[in-house]
Amino acid sequence: RTVYLNGTYLPETEARVSIFDRGFLMADGVYEVTSVLGGRLIDFSGHLIRLQRSLDELGISNPLTSDEWLAAHRELVAVNKITDGMVYLQVTRGNPGDRDFAWGEGVAPTVVLFTQDKPGLADNPQALTGLRVISIPDIRWGRRDIKTVQLLYPSMAKMMAKKAGVDDAWFVEDGNVTEGTSNNVYIVKGNKIITRPLSNDILHGITRAAVLRFAKEAQFEIEERLFTVEEAKAADEAFTTSASAFVMPVVEIDGAAIGTGKPGRVAPRLREIYLDEMRKAAI
Ligand code: PLP
Repeated sequence: RTVYLNGTYLPETEARVSIFDRGFLMADGVYEVTSVLGGRLIDFSGHLIRLQRSLDELGISNPLTSDEWLAAHRELVAVNKITDGMVYLQVTRGNPGDRDFAWGEGVAPTVVLFTQDKPGLADNPQALTGLRVISIPDIRWGRRDIKTVQLLYPSMAKMMAKKAGVDDAWFVEDGNVTEGTSNNVYIVKGNKIITRPLSNDILHGITRAAVLRFAKEAQFEIEERLFTVEEAKAADEAFTTSASAFVMPVVEIDGAAIGTGKPGRVAPRLREIYLDEMRKAAI
């Protein structure tokens, strides 16, 4: 694979980042993952806007212009011949030359981009059967709205899910569901779609924003409020959204079937609308 590192395209085996890079030592960096369908970028502007926000929150200057970001994404999609897959981008505060908690000014951010080939990304068979999840305590830090590379607990959560023989985990804080390991979460009751409101407690999903917009247009009622695992168990349906898995039905939580235990009417419909609309708008 060809990757991008600080303005240069090179083979992945030749890309080198310093051991003093604060991304490596302190998880001091942010990332975005943009899906590619049919060789085109899905919701690219949404990702760039959130990237800017994450960088601003951490006081890291954006090392590339929007045009440069787009050009780098397109170049990697082309040279790596990605039809369906993703482009991962990461910006860290860079290499100050030594290890120190405090950072100085004038360190150049480290910029990395690479692609992942995922043939048939939009045809995931799990979208037809639905996901099974467990709930676990949310012990992450208090700024989950910043998309940092500090992904240890979400990784541990995925391993807990795997060990429990299910697909994913939902985080719970003060009795309420926050989000999934790498997705925003929703329950459906009648014509109502219920999801946690935006705050520092969850990532402001790009897919969340698009799906809520499409759901409103499709005459669903949106209720942004807290909900519990018990309420999720008693819901008609549940689902997740993310840029890499789109809309996924959730059919079981902590061993209890949600609704019929099969994907319902709403999540598959929103998945179809989302994919149709986003493919049309892809660049
Ligand atoms: N919540 C968390 C913790 C995530 O890691 C992600 C995606 O990576 C999401 C939500 C979904 O966000 P998006 O729709 O922008 O991919």
